[in-house]
Amino acid sequence: VSLNLIMLGAPGAGKGTQAERIARERGIPKISTGDILREAVAAGTELGRRVKATMEQGQLVSDELMIAIVRDRLAREDARRGFVLDGFPRTVAQALSLDEIMRGRDPLIVADLAVAEADLVRRLANRLVCGSCGTNAVVDAAGNAPKSCQQCGGPLVQRKDDNEAVVRERLQVYQRQTKPLLDFYRSRPTFREVDGAQSPERVAADLSAAVDSALKQITSTQGAGR
Ligand code: ADP
Ligand code: ZN
Repeated sequence: VSLNLIMLGAPGAGKGTQAERIARERGIPKISTGDILREAVAAGTELGRRVKATMEQGQLVSDELMIAIVRDRLAREDARRGFVLDGFPRTVAQALSLDEIMRGRDPLIVADLAVAEADLVRRLANRLVCGSCGTNAVVDAAGNAPKSCQQCGGPLVQRKDDNEAVVRERLQVYQRQTKPLLDFYRSRPTFREVDGAQSPERVAADLSAAVDSALKQITSTQGAGR
């Protein structure tokens, strides 16, 4: 079975970090729609010019555009044997399209990273990312961040949409447009919730176990159907 994983969770829940990690562990691509859009903005492409203002305001890019991007990306050869999607779907319309895109492929595994709202605001307001490669800076227990990126040595900066006003807007957008996805997916046998308030190592261990149990669930039902 392919690991076709989608990561749900509010902004700041740690989706990006965990998606990166599990994709590396399982040898499948991590597909982050936020990264794809930020790269387009940085490169000044047509797509980047279209989405820049929307992103800086913390609003969602249109479903039509996002669905086209993901459809193309999932059709690429490296995604045939599995993928980790981070940041998509973010609306019920996107989720419906994703089901269509997935027809004929192994079922989706849906992991929700649950974190309390107060923690999210704090995490996002304190978050620093590398201006060169986008990796999140690791802040120590005392709240101190290193001076430069531990991956590439690039400068650490605050993401444009991590300032307090935009953070609040993004959390509202999440409540209104993305949280309904939990009800959309919750009844599926491959839905798993992971406690995102723990240390990154513990979250990773729980996520890995959740994914294995969902994969087992898929193999057992596929086996029964034959
Ligand atoms: P977050 O840290 O809020 O999870 P991301 O890096 O996933 O942020 O996305 C950053 C921004 O890119 C979003 O606020 C939104 O404007 C846009 N974006 C990313 N993915 C999607 C999507 N699936 N649908 C609509 N807009 C998206
Ligand atoms: Zn870097």
